[in-house]
Amino acid sequence: MHVSSLIRSTLGLKGHHVKSVREEAGGIFAKIVANKRSRPVCSVCGRKRPCYDTLKERRWRHIPLWGKPVTLLFRPRRAKCKTCGIKVEKIPWSSGKSPLSLPLIILLATYAKILALEEVARLTGVHWNTVRAAVKAAVDYGLEHRETASVIAIGVDEISRRKGHKYMTMVYDLSRMRLLWCGEGRDKNAIQAFFNDWGEERCKAIKAVCCDMWQPYIDVIEEMLPNAVMVFDKFHIIAHLSKAIDEVRREEARKLKDEGRENILSKTRYIFLKNPENLTDKQRLRLSDLEKLNLKINRAYVLKEAFRCFWDYTYRANAKKYLDKWFWWATHSRIEQMRDFAWMIRNHEEQILNYFKVPITNAAVEGMNRKAKVVSQRAYGYRTVGTFQLALYHVLGDLPMPETTHRFL
Ligand SMILES: [Zn+2]
Repeated sequence: MHVSSLIRSTLGLKGHHVKSVREEAGGIFAKIVANKRSRPVCSVCGRKRPCYDTLKERRWRHIPLWGKPVTLLFRPRRAKCKTCGIKVEKIPWSSGKSPLSLPLIILLATYAKILALEEVARLTGVHWNTVRAAVKAAVDYGLEHRETASVIAIGVDEISRRKGHKYMTMVYDLSRMRLLWCGEGRDKNAIQAFFNDWGEERCKAIKAVCCDMWQPYIDVIEEMLPNAVMVFDKFHIIAHLSKAIDEVRREEARKLKDEGRENILSKTRYIFLKNPENLTDKQRLRLSDLEKLNLKINRAYVLKEAFRCFWDYTYRANAKKYLDKWFWWATHSRIEQMRDFAWMIRNHEEQILNYFKVPITNAAVEGMNRKAKVVSQRAYGYRTVGTFQLALYHVLGDLPMPETTHRFL
């Protein structure tokens, strides 16, 4: 079998064929030409049209063969299309202006879903920049060809990039659990940039948004999606409550220490944060011992457990009634942290109660965020935000890949 027929069959060439293959400086160069009487296919409408002229030679990096780099050479023709004008012909192995062949893009991008870019580079013997370019081409294709008409519920969340306080705003599709958009920062500009990209038409289709009680997001979402139901994420609310509980416990432990009393609250952090059904036997015993004492944390704990019942309601009106009762109880508890939490809830009550209208949460989003963390840890290569973003879209975006006639993997 000749290398030329191998290339022809794996590229699925019909209107073109491999004219010659030569080896030069350790690499394989395959020259492709159009079949004699074939007419170029217009790259816009996909119809066969008369040939207008021939451009100068272009080169594509192709999949290395047994460790030898392969380059495809071809002079694209331009078609004279009566509907589209003068257009470059459709080249079956090419994706846009990328200097990489479509199969190479797919091969590198497929590896890059599970490996760091530098590992893919080492494994396939291509430069890091080439791997990045392949991922970029695959992501560009995916973003352009993904289906977005079904996006009606989105979850907005943030992740921190690296250890510092660099944040990324993440927008997820809650029905298909995929990343729709990510951008630097977590301020108004960050979330506004999403809406600008998403455009008026697609914004109109969004019926519900789940997010944290974070004012910059709230302001922009209310302005951009006036008709969507905004739901504050249950798990963020629980996290706020847990933080309050933890502060009560720490403050009380400090107080005991200052008074020179035994630190009975040492190593109790998770006892008060966990749900009682998840406690170990040992923790349960410890808790029931502590409950016999007159401690502030015990009262806070009872409030926390009572708040959990709130989510069990089915009807908004009943949930509201319960919340009112709980609010009175918390604000009269003489525990500053619980009072603050209760007021935060009251100030955001409408969107919290929206949960009973549209029961969406960002629970699944947390799983996606964990994946994002793995992506960020994988990468010494993500010196720039751009490459990190690219990797996030690639791994979390559930993007369609371009099709080829032959599977190389
Ligand atoms: Zn055309």
